[in-house]
Amino acid sequence: MSYLLVEHADVLVTMDVNRREIKDGALLAEGNRIVHISDTVEMQLYLHQYNIKPDETINAKGTVILPGLINCHHHLYQTLTRTLGTAGGLSLFDWLKTLYPVWGQMDAESVYTSAKLGLVELILSGATTVADHLYLFPNGSRLDDEIAAAQELGVRFHPTRGSMSLGESKGGLPPDNICDTEEHILNDSQRVIEQFHDTDDFSMCRIGPAPCSPFSVTADLMKQSAEMARAYEAVNLHTHLAETIDENRFCLEKYGKRPVEYMESLNWLGDDVWFAHMVHPDEDEVKKLAHSCSGVCHCPSSNMILASGIAPIRQMVDADVRVGLGVDGSASNDGNQMLGEVRQAMLLQRVGWPGFESNAGRFSARDALELATLGGAKVLNRKDTGSLEVDKAADLIAFRIDDLHHAGGQSDKVASLLSCAPTGVWLSVINGRIIVQNGELLNVDIENLVIKHNQLAHEMLVKAGVA
Ligand SMILES: [Zn+2]
Repeated sequence: MSYLLVEHADVLVTMDVNRREIKDGALLAEGNRIVHISDTVEMQLYLHQYNIKPDETINAKGTVILPGLINCHHHLYQTLTRTLGTAGGLSLFDWLKTLYPVWGQMDAESVYTSAKLGLVELILSGATTVADHLYLFPNGSRLDDEIAAAQELGVRFHPTRGSMSLGESKGGLPPDNICDTEEHILNDSQRVIEQFHDTDDFSMCRIGPAPCSPFSVTADLMKQSAEMARAYEAVNLHTHLAETIDENRFCLEKYGKRPVEYMESLNWLGDDVWFAHMVHPDEDEVKKLAHSCSGVCHCPSSNMILASGIAPIRQMVDADVRVGLGVDGSASNDGNQMLGEVRQAMLLQRVGWPGFESNAGRFSARDALELATLGGAKVLNRKDTGSLEVDKAADLIAFRIDDLHHAGGQSDKVASLLSCAPTGVWLSVINGRIIVQNGELLNVDIENLVIKHNQLAHEMLVKAGVA
């Protein structure tokens, strides 16, 4: 096993139980595991004591080191349709109806290429673990296509095998021709779990079934997906929930229940479940989420672009709900800037509440960073990442704070990452491997990736008659 030493970070944020922030911080990894964390002086003593000579040493002076950020909800394929429908401010249901026919033109190549592009953008902005939700598979595309992209890049990946089975003719929202049969959905979900799901510590790939939402799948598919997932180890369930007032209304009209109550009736609450959004839970629903240990992924930019509302994240965190952060699909955010999303979470929780004028501190920079690190690890049930501690995975990132954008922010270098304009990582190490060095993603031809991606995106628009 080789040793990687990172030393002289201005601040190393551990997110450990004491939330230690170490000045002149240093971290030593052996292979993919962290073996020591301390200040740089103590690190030298440690290396001497155990006669360790690092194979690679990185001088991180002028940076803040954080645990790698965890993106808990995304639809990577949507990079193909950025800005379509978002410019004018459509609400969720109208936005979806505009995009469904274009998404129906995807194929294996566009799923692979968009996943690669979206993951590159996420890695460069601080993500080291990414959960994705792919819920339509037209023209022979498969979950395998995005897994291939993640494996090439070396990012820790939680792809969920999504699905839509409740087409317009059955009272659902999506057109029938992009929905699938429930038999095929369940068979294919089982196939990808058996082929790719890895339960080991430091796993680089965990699969989960993810019926898309209450308005695009049947109750029966939700129940059967849960039964199937629970027959395997560490297979977590994922869906969208309580995203908009429209959805609350849909659930009350169609099922006679509010969204969380509806999920409860399907056996879809528990520590193996996480929901994207949760913008509109009432107090009782927040209690149910907490008591059942169900997880929530907050997606602030998407909630603003689609005018969905402001999720009560402070209340959920205070009620001990597991809450993480996600950028959501890159067509309902139009960006995959992970650090930028952390900033959005901080900002959005500070507005829109009764008496908010006196509550600017209700969500601090560190609260927001915690959502994207420890919070994300809890939501994805990962005990091996989310903080920088001995025996955890070597997933770490560094941002420069001696640059133009952070000038004058030296009084609190950690908070300056969010209060100043979000930037890209200078260093990213995932599972002990250096993926980004000096701000450059190693071994990826980004220019040609963008050209290919834009060609495929244009072809989809032409086929759908939009361009
Ligand atoms: Zn989503």
